[in-house]
Amino acid sequence: MKLKLAAALLASAVAMPAQADVLVDNVSGITIDENGEVKRFSALVIDDDGKVARLLERGEEAPRTDYREDGEGRVMLPGFIDAHGHVSGIGFGALTLDLSGTNSLEEALEAIRVFAEENEARPWILGRGWNQEKWGLGRFPTAAELDSVVSDRPVYLARVDGHAGWANSLAMKAAGVTEKSVSPSGGRIETLADGKTPSGVFVDAAEELMTKAIPAPRPVERDLALAEAQKVLHAQGITAMADMGTTIEDWQAFRRAGDNGSLTLRIMAYAAGPEQMVLIGGSGPSPWLYDDKLRLNGIKLYLDGALGSRGAWLKEPYADDPHNTGLPLTPPAALRNILVRAAQGNFQPAVHAIGTAANAEALNAISEIAESFDGDRRWRIEHVQIVDPADLPKLAEHGIISSMQPVHQTSDMFMAEARLGPDRLDGAYAWNTILQLGGRLAFGSDAPVESANPFAGLAVAITRANAEGEPFGGWRPSESVSREQALAGFTSEAAFAGFAEGRFGRLLPGERADFVLVDVDPLVDTPDQIRNTTVLETWVGGRKVYEAD
Ligand SMILES: [Zn+2]
Repeated sequence: MKLKLAAALLASAVAMPAQADVLVDNVSGITIDENGEVKRFSALVIDDDGKVARLLERGEEAPRTDYREDGEGRVMLPGFIDAHGHVSGIGFGALTLDLSGTNSLEEALEAIRVFAEENEARPWILGRGWNQEKWGLGRFPTAAELDSVVSDRPVYLARVDGHAGWANSLAMKAAGVTEKSVSPSGGRIETLADGKTPSGVFVDAAEELMTKAIPAPRPVERDLALAEAQKVLHAQGITAMADMGTTIEDWQAFRRAGDNGSLTLRIMAYAAGPEQMVLIGGSGPSPWLYDDKLRLNGIKLYLDGALGSRGAWLKEPYADDPHNTGLPLTPPAALRNILVRAAQGNFQPAVHAIGTAANAEALNAISEIAESFDGDRRWRIEHVQIVDPADLPKLAEHGIISSMQPVHQTSDMFMAEARLGPDRLDGAYAWNTILQLGGRLAFGSDAPVESANPFAGLAVAITRANAEGEPFGGWRPSESVSREQALAGFTSEAAFAGFAEGRFGRLLPGERADFVLVDVDPLVDTPDQIRNTTVLETWVGGRKVYEAD
């Protein structure tokens, strides 16, 4: 009996090494320490709660542990924390058929057929990325062509630019589109040669006729999306993410995963507006759940739009659109109202602000309200892309955190020059100035808007240049940050931005053993090497959640 029990215990311990203490040695370990300085180590001991028990320096004698993992000399870093992403968006993106690699209609149809076959349980087949120009088709594809590969379910596929969609007959039937349907203003229902039969392609505003018919994902699909998102993120070395715009349906999926033990990503949730905040949190933020895997921290709200579509709210008109300054999406009174409601419940506000007027307004509203709410609030501004230099010092007041996405800088730089002109870029993506003024930076990706890859983020943060090395010497390079600051932005500072310091984000005794093993040292190797880092293993809470093949 006793033997049997021991054998069973041993078997379960082998399956789950975090049940016992583990020594991971022979690593080139790097973390940010409690003083914000870099600390190096050569081995790490994990206790049976999956927390760091001890760091060992080279030459120090290792304690006896139940298990030992040879790090094979690889670089160990704290698990990356993405301070701004969209977990469900990443998951659903990964579950959607991607046609951007197809070179002909035939190739696309074959990919659609195979995808439908492999995803029998999906009530709708959804996809994106087709481009009839790239296919050399000379016309739009048709519903009949889609029907020839999927006729048992609706199919709807967005064009590569998102400005058109391609439906099969069942999808049009589900949407109630017939010969009698009329193109809405700002959009067009494409027709066949007879000039009245809808051909299956819907342009711009007409897309809405189709997209409104797509059923909301069921819980089982949300669970699948979360599992997919975790896979995608762990493979890139990410162990935690601030989820910006959590809905009650997202939250329930996170809870289901937590309850059944499949939640491996640490999620700091920011509710999608005041109603969702109350639905999810009731009177205040949730406690940390599932061993620090999930917490409702606060609320995400939008103050303006994006620069590309000229939705960012500017103090002066757009250089390339002189009658337009963009618009506030939340009027001043409503903004203050929501911030006060959030602060009363101790919810942490995260305000999306891109343009100079939006950032000024966010800063003004926060400083007005901060007078009446003392304590550690960590007001967050998300993106902080274009700030009037006169307003930059305010980013260091009231404990405000600038939550910024390095890769946005290289994606946007030429567009930002066109939108603003060369003379209004002094406060653009001003990471270094914000730090020099005493502000705090948390880094993220805004995935799935950009790839979640934190190593691309690190490379941009230290160079202000893109993957091609452009522009030579970097774009406004004085705003780059040091390697140490970049690493902190994606680890310890991203944890602080989410009230998670002391729980995860650093490899220090008492914190969760979340780490990655990689082939590049981000404090020493070239920006190009950093960008091309291979994540070999990802561990969360002392358990391996990803291993490269
Ligand atoms: Zn976002």
